[in-house]
Amino acid sequence: MAQNSATNLITAKTALADIPGIGARLAERLKAFELLTAGDMVRHFPMRHERKLAERSILETQREMADDQAEIRIRGTVAAVRVRRGRATMVEATLEDDSSSARLVWFNASWMRDKIHPGDSGVAQGRAKVRNGFLELGNPRWIPDPAPDETMAQRAAMPSNATTESTNSTINIPRINPPLLHVHDQLRAIYPASEQLLSSEIESVVAQVLEPVCCAIDDPLPLAFRQERGLIALADAYRLYHQARAEDDVVAARKRLAFDELFLLQLGVMMRRAQLRSRTRALPLKLEANINQHIRSRIPFTLTPQQDQVIAEIVADMSQPFAMNRLLQGDVGSGKTVVAVYAMLLAVAHGFQAALVAPTELLAEQHYAVLGAMLQGSNVRIAFITSSNTSAERRERVAGLASGKFDIAIGTHALLEGGVAFRNLAVAVIDEQHRFGVKQRAAIRQKGQGELPVVPHTLVMTATPIPRTLAITLYGDLDTSVLRGSPPGRERIITRVVAPEKAPEVYSYLRTRLERGEQAYVVVPAVEESDLGLKDVANHLRYLQEGPWKGFNLAVLHGAMAREERDATMNAFRSGKVHALVATIVIEVGVDVANASIMVVEHADRFGLAQLHQLRGRVGRGSTQSLCVFLGESPTQDGKQRLEAIRNTDDGFMIAETDLRIRGPGEVFGSRQSGLPPFQIADLARDGELLRVARADAHAWIEKDPELSAPSVAALKNKLLITYGKALGLGDVG
Ligand code: ADP
Ligand code: MG
Repeated sequence: MAQNSATNLITAKTALADIPGIGARLAERLKAFELLTAGDMVRHFPMRHERKLAERSILETQREMADDQAEIRIRGTVAAVRVRRGRATMVEATLEDDSSSARLVWFNASWMRDKIHPGDSGVAQGRAKVRNGFLELGNPRWIPDPAPDETMAQRAAMPSNATTESTNSTINIPRINPPLLHVHDQLRAIYPASEQLLSSEIESVVAQVLEPVCCAIDDPLPLAFRQERGLIALADAYRLYHQARAEDDVVAARKRLAFDELFLLQLGVMMRRAQLRSRTRALPLKLEANINQHIRSRIPFTLTPQQDQVIAEIVADMSQPFAMNRLLQGDVGSGKTVVAVYAMLLAVAHGFQAALVAPTELLAEQHYAVLGAMLQGSNVRIAFITSSNTSAERRERVAGLASGKFDIAIGTHALLEGGVAFRNLAVAVIDEQHRFGVKQRAAIRQKGQGELPVVPHTLVMTATPIPRTLAITLYGDLDTSVLRGSPPGRERIITRVVAPEKAPEVYSYLRTRLERGEQAYVVVPAVEESDLGLKDVANHLRYLQEGPWKGFNLAVLHGAMAREERDATMNAFRSGKVHALVATIVIEVGVDVANASIMVVEHADRFGLAQLHQLRGRVGRGSTQSLCVFLGESPTQDGKQRLEAIRNTDDGFMIAETDLRIRGPGEVFGSRQSGLPPFQIADLARDGELLRVARADAHAWIEKDPELSAPSVAALKNKLLITYGKALGLGDVG
């Protein structure tokens, strides 16, 4: 019990169980929603607001029913409940008030049986019609009046001398805002709820704690700043969001709450950026003319002007005595690898080490092969490190990196693990950054130690073009380069979306192209047969081999295969011995075979838009006109939109924006990948402008006070460290 609380008031920290009227049973159910304290309740936001309908008598409602299916709200006492068991249980209740009676019907709703009893009173809200002279509501929302000992709502609704408030409680509940009785409200907050915990129960608990908690809030943003930005006070934002009376209230509250979330994260990324700049010394690696010439002589083609431009940006960063921290965005096939190779060879030319981390083994192997070919005959030594190394291999390679025997390390996550250390790592490249989080970026930066008191220059690359709003959220602490266009001699890819029934025609047409020497990828969603009815690798291979593509050499490729086997298959495909690969999504990332000009994706409607775009990017890498066929037909609106978007454009940036709109940011870049806690209120798809403002403000604040050490922002800084300190590595020099 919080009996020792000095003020005897409810504060944000007061445990819900200690508040009279909430009671142990309700507190227990709130706990299941991770709602433990008064503050938790205030930060537990409604998911939407419903127009609260005026309550009218049943008779009046019935007389004035203008059209069937009008939404109405009536209050009364339950006179009778009937349960009809048939194929589906139907629950029927008669609701009476002083004027008349109405029928409430729940179809197929056995669970309603225990929720409504004769004698109960409450409110029914829903769509109604008049049938046989009776007002009838189908599947209405039933909001029972709370039982007296269950919540404090009833208590509050009663005259105060009738309350059963225990006199020995020392917690004093201010009655500034009588719970539940905001009769003038036009909107009602609807909370995420369950059968065990109703939205209306959450609403009444919030009503009790909201005012005392809000009274004590010290606004983290100064008044003048708020006024300039048109933001209401934080306490008011909480009040209005929970107890909005009009649409405008919700808009104003939402704006403030969303701004705070965006601003806090931007402060975090800006602080991180400032810390990286001021605290991290790196090796300045100058590009001498002879080094430039040397590197270019190893590259088997002429760089495009766009590649030269990006390389110039990177080289400028690397010549500085503080660490580069740069993101390279470029659509699939735009030629990022060679840019990374350039940066790595610049380090090697100066006698230091370089590392390249890829998200999948397949991709790491490909990089290893490409770099190995370029460096053939040179004395540059490459260590290949993945989790499938034998322990002897790993021991030998790890030791060689530490001693400096190897100049370059290429590998997967295994490279980031503890135990791997470098003698003098000067450049680290992370490929397909969207597969990694902020933490991995920090991990590779730690690897620079060894004999150098510096951190490596870091280049992160992504082929998933990121909408600007997301880029500055996830990678706000990075400088950005964008590689546009594609290497010369590329033909546009023809994209077709075809109904699944037409698959046989598609495969027989493609047969004529295989006969001309083209190669194909066929992507299916499953590795193994299952009862989901999805095509799987083995069965689809058999179908093609015995049917439309009989006589061609086909092979499977998926993530569950042993590395040697996958290697062998990939090599056979690269050399043309295998004509078509039947694969899972493992080929999504980065795989590069120029002669492969056909892509077929089965069940295309099951893949995300970004994935479809990545898959399509596997072809169109040579001089043959490539064809990409998406077999699919979606029953859902989202699926239809995705297929339409992929057919209509091959611009990765546009696809990314569309993807963000269709799926929302949480899905596009789940917090799991980013390592950041998700926003509760802010929505990157709609708050782009607010984000822009928050970012500019955060930038200005950190410029003035890089560590937010002014006393006036102590609370803000504290909140920042609690929310993002760990995820962003604030404070570690890393
Ligand atoms: P991504 O940006 O998707 O990683 P890659 O780096 O794999 O793309 O490049 C795709 C293909 O284009 C590779 O086969 C690569 O060798 C080739 N390529 C890259 N730059 C050029 C260039 N300037 N001229 C010709 N081919 C290039
Ligand atoms: Mg790549």
